[in-house]
Amino acid sequence: MKNYKLLTPGPLTTTDTVKAEMLFDHCTWDDDYKQITQDIRKKLLKLAHASEETYTAVLMQGSGSFGVESVLTSVVGREDKVLIIANGAYGERMTQIADCAGINYATYKVHYNEVPSAQKVQEILASDPAITHVTMVHSETTSGILNDIESVAKVVKKAGRVFIVDAMSSFGGVDIQVEALGIDFIISSANKCIQGVPGFSFIICNREKLMESKGKARSLSLDLYGQWETMEKDGKWRFTSPTHVVLAFAKALEEMEAEGGIEARGARYRANNQLLIERMAQMGIKTYIDGTHQGPIITTFFYPENAEFSFSEMYEYIKERGYAIYPGKVTEAETFRIGNIGEIYEEDIVKLCDIFQEFLESQETAEQMNCAV
Ligand SMILES: *Cc1c(COP(=O)(O)O)cnc(C)c1O
Repeated sequence: MKNYKLLTPGPLTTTDTVKAEMLFDHCTWDDDYKQITQDIRKKLLKLAHASEETYTAVLMQGSGSFGVESVLTSVVGREDKVLIIANGAYGERMTQIADCAGINYATYKVHYNEVPSAQKVQEILASDPAITHVTMVHSETTSGILNDIESVAKVVKKAGRVFIVDAMSSFGGVDIQVEALGIDFIISSANKCIQGVPGFSFIICNREKLMESKGKARSLSLDLYGQWETMEKDGKWRFTSPTHVVLAFAKALEEMEAEGGIEARGARYRANNQLLIERMAQMGIKTYIDGTHQGPIITTFFYPENAEFSFSEMYEYIKERGYAIYPGKVTEAETFRIGNIGEIYEEDIVKLCDIFQEFLESQETAEQMNCAV
């Protein structure tokens, strides 16, 4: 099998040293292992700028969606109602979770290339006092848009509602002042900006709000409070923990510190992202999201005008040469996506853009030859 780097929003390219941690079969019940879990929980609070008095971190088996489902089904009680703000597939997935679990909800849907308005959220909350919780996505990976959680947090807090944020693809790559913003539950996973491998999600919870959720869970294995209660004692996971993934994640956190934390990592991602967008623009390839709202994680590009090639032709050409890109996910236009998080540096972006240019040129030549016949 030929090796390639992932230009996708997770799983993403990790370092060899992170992968090497998984060569060890760790015992789950001894103190060494439990301590690793406790250290991870502490470090996550630090990254979130959340104090140990007010916040606590819970690790949950499964991919990111399991974490989102855990929060929604554990903290939104049978008498409660959640406002789901959606401007992409991940926001819409929350409505599917609510449908499955029979959670009472309202939606505020926004077009995929627009950010939700705090003003509008304020109006919805004023007009519907039954709403107890509000949830939204920070970096909508569907399009690459970065939503303004700061201004929404303000109106949600002012209205006295619980605020839940899916920061799956941004946490660790974009600095989030969780405590200062008053975010009550924020969710991310091992295989995004912390640069670990897939296998668990994590939730940073306001302790008081988590305590209030006791007994509300609609699922046994995804019970957030239940998971916390066991883990809080000494770091033991309630059910089998993904040991190899946890070891890799602990290493990924160390490497993140060595890089210079969120600040340095965020700067690298932004530089990758800007270079990518500039180089694509030089080739006439435009972004789906405008410059003000484009996030630094992943970018949706329109197909070049009059393009005759399919995504899979382009994908195979680029993959042969060392990089895997991502199909588009917006519904109204032909697009493709390129992620720039993970162990990706300027040289990778330069290489990718050179390959892309070669591909476009090879297509033009092919067309000319067709015309000549
Ligand atoms: C990756 C991601 C998720 C979780 O997706 P999984 O496939 O379950 O890991 C949720 N929300 C956003 C915004 C994401 O980027």
